[in-house]
Amino acid sequence: MSNCIFCKIVNDEIPCSKVYEDDKVLAFKDINPEAPVHILVVPKQHIQSVLDLDEKNKSVTVDIFDAINKIAKLSGIDEDGFRVVANTGINGGQTVGHLHYHILGGRSLQWPPG
Ligand code: 5GP
Ligand code: ZN
Repeated sequence: MSNCIFCKIVNDEIPCSKVYEDDKVLAFKDINPEAPVHILVVPKQHIQSVLDLDEKNKSVTVDIFDAINKIAKLSGIDEDGFRVVANTGINGGQTVGHLHYHILGGRSLQWPPG
């Protein structure tokens, strides 16, 4: 989508600190990190949120979790553990309307979240 920040990052129109890329998925450092490791994993295809996954595009979730598996190991957070979050909609606190999974690690995280 032309006015979507994450589509612009995928299309190299906005720079990012890239962590991982394959043909379906891009991962980059969050610009406002909430933990020592805070990485966003996005499908290259524009999908608004978890609610917009369907029969045609849902296989990207497997691609995303394959990427998360690799990124956790290459970021060195696999041993101590980490959190994967997909904020969705207003109550979920989603601020960017392009499906993304936060990987948060490098410190002990509180539960439940605020
Ligand atoms: P949400 O609040 O939608 O779950 O997460 C959006 C995330 O995107 C936020 O953590 C925010 O810091 C991050 N973000 C917003 N704009 C940019 C950007 O231009 N570059 C990067 N790297 N992260 C961004
Ligand atoms: Zn987009």
